[in-house]
Amino acid sequence: MQLNENLIRNVVRQVLAEVGNIPPLPRGAQSNGRGRQGRRGVFTCPDQAVAAAQEAFEQLSRRTIEDRRRIIAVIRRIAIDQAEELGTMEMHETRIGRLEHKIEKLRILGEKTPGVEFLRSDAYSGDNGLTVIERAPFGVIGAITPVTHSLPTLTGNAISMIAGGNALVANPHPSGKRVAAEGVRRFNEAIFAATGIDNLICVIAEPTLETANALFKHKGIACICVTGGPAVARAALNSGKRAVVAGPGNPPVVVDDTADYDRAAKAIIQGASYDNNLLCIAEKEVFCAGSAHEAMLEAMHRHGAVRLTAQEVDRLAAAAIATVGEGAHRHDVAAKEFIGQDASTLARAAGRDVPAGTQLLYAEVEESHPFVAVEQMMPFVPFVRCRDIEDAIAKAKHYEHGFRHTSIIHTNNVRHMTMMGRALDTTLFVKNGPCMAALGLGGEGYLSFSIATPTGEGVTTPLTFTRERRCALIDDLHILGRD
Ligand code: NAD
Repeated sequence: MQLNENLIRNVVRQVLAEVGNIPPLPRGAQSNGRGRQGRRGVFTCPDQAVAAAQEAFEQLSRRTIEDRRRIIAVIRRIAIDQAEELGTMEMHETRIGRLEHKIEKLRILGEKTPGVEFLRSDAYSGDNGLTVIERAPFGVIGAITPVTHSLPTLTGNAISMIAGGNALVANPHPSGKRVAAEGVRRFNEAIFAATGIDNLICVIAEPTLETANALFKHKGIACICVTGGPAVARAALNSGKRAVVAGPGNPPVVVDDTADYDRAAKAIIQGASYDNNLLCIAEKEVFCAGSAHEAMLEAMHRHGAVRLTAQEVDRLAAAAIATVGEGAHRHDVAAKEFIGQDASTLARAAGRDVPAGTQLLYAEVEESHPFVAVEQMMPFVPFVRCRDIEDAIAKAKHYEHGFRHTSIIHTNNVRHMTMMGRALDTTLFVKNGPCMAALGLGGEGYLSFSIATPTGEGVTTPLTFTRERRCALIDDLHILGRD
């Protein structure tokens, strides 16, 4: 057998894949460091990934909208049919959240993310002719995805971006890189079989901050979509590129004394315990006005949440809240070892045993408690007693930190809804339901896992990833007018 560079590369790759570093190349694919066909989207070098995505974009540009629909159908089918296997893979790799929700998230994104049907054109017809406004793609989009939903975010981004006619290169979180690469490999394999286009969705198999920054600066990347916390949101806003930034949140909940307390408690438990509180939209702290406070503490207990004492919650905070940064930048954050862990793990750290199946812990705390200000991303929710509705809304606004992400109210007083909606000015505002109702899951509307907050696009759709193009015909085709 003759040993050549290709063979050595492929053997090394296979060995790395087997020890769990990168997924193997598809059968028959050549990895010669230059050839990009057959890579099924999995690259280590950002330049190569962008070049491959650019080729795929050019091929897609010559296809019909119906072809885009077929490609999206392929992605949907894999996300739905293989949700269990891929969700389990994500759970094993990231070790945060809950298995049933990892599976459900993939399935839901496959089913409900808007596709090409969301595209629309506008037309202006009048005495001076006909002008048509159409939605054109950007080209290759750089997508930065979070560890909290690695493959789900990538799946939703891919559907929206391809519906808009784009290709993408994803830089996943390093702790969710393997499932991202495996999902991308499966998507591309099936897209190639259906259409002959390879590398429409590319992924950096060994992502680092450097590879993310390489995408931010790459001249082949037309636009970036970042889903993550404060540091990456800042980096994207400073990148000099068109950026769609789905940044962090710390969603407050307000409950007043007109609320249906049982309904409110059930909604808070459903939203705050989903995937162990990893959703950026999830209920993170509750402000109860007047007599709603005691009533809500009791209602939470009635519906199965476990209440911690003041000492227990302090013990939990000592373990689960860390301090980072120096000087003026010193601040509290959720400790990595506790993010997305089960309620029983949190309870143990608090010095308490809880019944099996406990989904959520809660406690009465002072406003100054670190759990109020920190985006904890774990199934514990602090409750703060407030004087009245004005006090509750003011505190909710303060601890939302101006992210303008998500806020929630439980009330039957429409005036209070209006007051809170105006004061918080958040992208999502939910009334009388769990957080996910704002994404069409139990409420009306559509779904995405990238909710663009500081840049203002809101729940991203295919239209988010398109440029407006105007085509004006002068004097003709206004068929209702003069000769
Ligand atoms: P994270 O900020 O640690 O990481 C997100 C992504 O950004 C990862 O791919 C990471 O590698 C990359 N990254 C981090 N710092 C970077 C930097 N300085 N330069 C370049 N890349 C960088 O967040 P996470 O823990 O993965 O996810 C949780 C966070 O994401 C929470 O704050 C949550 O609110 C937010 N989030 C927001 C949305 C939304 O739609 N708005 C959705 C999901 C998660």
